[in-house]
Amino acid sequence: MSISTSVLTQLMQVLPNWRPQMFFKTSLVALSHAMEDQVLARSDAPLIIATFQRERFYRQEAHRYQRLGQQSDQVYVLAAPETDFCNHSGIYESVAFDANDALAQEWHLVVMGDRYANCLICRERPAPPTSGDFESDSNRRFEGIWTFDRHTSSHAAYILLDRILQYRPELADKISEAKNRYLDNVCNLDQLESSQLSPVNYPDPFVNRLVSYLQVGQYKLLKAYRAIASQEQKERLIHLMTTAIRRSLDPEEILQVAVEQLGHGLEACRCIIYCCSAQDAQATISHEFLNTDIGSLLAQTWPLTENELFQTVAHRLESLFIRNVSNDPDWGAQIKEIAHQYSIGSWLLVPVFYQDRFLGMVELHQCRPDHLPWTEEQISLVEAIANQVGVALIQAEAYANLEDLNEQLAALDRTRSNLVAITGHELRTPLSTIQVCLESLATEPDMSPELRQVMLNTALADAERMRKLIQDFLILSQLESGRVDWNPEPLALAECIELGISNVRSRYHGSRIPKITAKLSPRLPLVQADGEWLVEVLAKLLDNACKFTPPNGKIMIRAAAASEQQVQITIADNGRGIEPNRLETVFDRFYQEEGALQRTTGGTGLGLAICRQIIDRWHGQIWAESLGKDQGSEFHFTIPVASAAATKVEESRPKGRSRPKA
Ligand code: ADP
Repeated sequence: MSISTSVLTQLMQVLPNWRPQMFFKTSLVALSHAMEDQVLARSDAPLIIATFQRERFYRQEAHRYQRLGQQSDQVYVLAAPETDFCNHSGIYESVAFDANDALAQEWHLVVMGDRYANCLICRERPAPPTSGDFESDSNRRFEGIWTFDRHTSSHAAYILLDRILQYRPELADKISEAKNRYLDNVCNLDQLESSQLSPVNYPDPFVNRLVSYLQVGQYKLLKAYRAIASQEQKERLIHLMTTAIRRSLDPEEILQVAVEQLGHGLEACRCIIYCCSAQDAQATISHEFLNTDIGSLLAQTWPLTENELFQTVAHRLESLFIRNVSNDPDWGAQIKEIAHQYSIGSWLLVPVFYQDRFLGMVELHQCRPDHLPWTEEQISLVEAIANQVGVALIQAEAYANLEDLNEQLAALDRTRSNLVAITGHELRTPLSTIQVCLESLATEPDMSPELRQVMLNTALADAERMRKLIQDFLILSQLESGRVDWNPEPLALAECIELGISNVRSRYHGSRIPKITAKLSPRLPLVQADGEWLVEVLAKLLDNACKFTPPNGKIMIRAAAASEQQVQITIADNGRGIEPNRLETVFDRFYQEEGALQRTTGGTGLGLAICRQIIDRWHGQIWAESLGKDQGSEFHFTIPVASAAATKVEESRPKGRSRPKA
């Protein structure tokens, strides 16, 4: 049998002067035992009605009720059956009610003797949603009344006896006898209405004080449990985070662990983490935990500039918690609009930073109307996790930098090995030739003057080749290490081109070279560059054009304004050309199409690398274009116009290649 009305509610309706009080289960156990002991200590035969929520609770007390049943024939025990508890008339009356009955949530004990009466009528309060394991059985909370007041106890007994009658109608005579014997001169149900305003008779102040002590003790215990549980939760989460950080240097993985653990641990409806700087206009939500079916923000754009909350937290580097965004007068319409759009009721923002450097934000949103606010301990837990996230992000960044550095070191190492191989080869070959020539000259005094001249010329040419290699190598290392003093000044390009051409001509003195023509736009502006270095670039590009173009070919120099700030210079030839997939590689140090060690033309493989270093310093670009083999090549570079040029050239511009347009 199941009745949905609560006995406590029924009693409060007829006794509105009572205010239900909160009791821990421990207190109820103590009070019930005291009431039962009081009966066992006397020799009278009182009316006893006891309600147990479940059969198992009754089982713990069954032996006491055996004894109570022997003392009085008016003992009623009610419980929701779990095994063999049923309606039964034995040493006392057992009354079984359905597990869905309102009684399954209640705890009653009424004792009505001839000269004393007391009652305990309570209902269990549902555990708070954030309660954890520490909400142990003894900390279960009930609300209700406990009194020695005969009048109130009679009301309670009346209500309970009428209930029992509904469950067990066959007990009508016995119940009627109980009412007459114990309750006759107090009231009956028809009189309940008229007695509503009767004064409340509270228990003895001394007893009351003892109960208060018991309650306070239990409350302190509960608080201690909660503190331990929250500390334990904090340590567990921090441990999880540190393990994640130790296991992986991947910030994505660490952020995912953080978002899930925080969202889960703090029972948030939504937890998000995003990385950004305090100046960013918006961020993309990269990690999210969702607890309910509210909308996801993952991969969405999250406003930052117009988000006052973000701005406040990012600049103060302090957490911010708003209990109810829609009612909070401190925040403007834009925040309320964002909160409304994303169903945010409570909003917690915790900055992620490392040594005053803001790195991102952890946000927790509560979207349910019935949520409890996060406690200070919980907020400090989020702060602790945000700290760990900050450390992880910095660590990952440092690791990425280290990887970059490693790559640079590996590249340097490759270059060094290349350099050793190539310089070794480059130096050894001419050195051997020089040695052979000089040995022949020294050991063969009868050598003809013509042959002697050939020997000397060969030795001189190879000495020059060695000098060039060493010179190029020194220039490149000077440029790369930033040991060059840059003094750009306004220059007339035509003069530099002329110098570049004469430089090449003198180099090829006596040998046939392709025809070089220059075609410069009229009214070409002055350029801002270092004259010596500009001539060096032109000479190297012209030298290459001469080397890779047959003597009957043509070389053309063009110069024109590329924009208001830049002039573009082109050196085009109709020589052997460059394969399209090599157009960028030719700028690598020691690159030579034939392969480093099979060189036929002279050269060091350092010329274009030197040109790029120089052009980079002026913030220009250099690139190659060619339609492929035997299609000729064009080398282009840009340099700043004098008026628009930056007056200050960076002394140590980060190394890194400017992207060619080709
Ligand atoms: P090198 O001393 O070998 O000329 P560079 O760095 O100046 O070294 O040039 C690198 C390589 O780029 C050359 O060896 C050649 O393969 C290719 N190259 C440079 N200029 C031209 C050009 N005008 N035509 C065809 N190939 C060229």
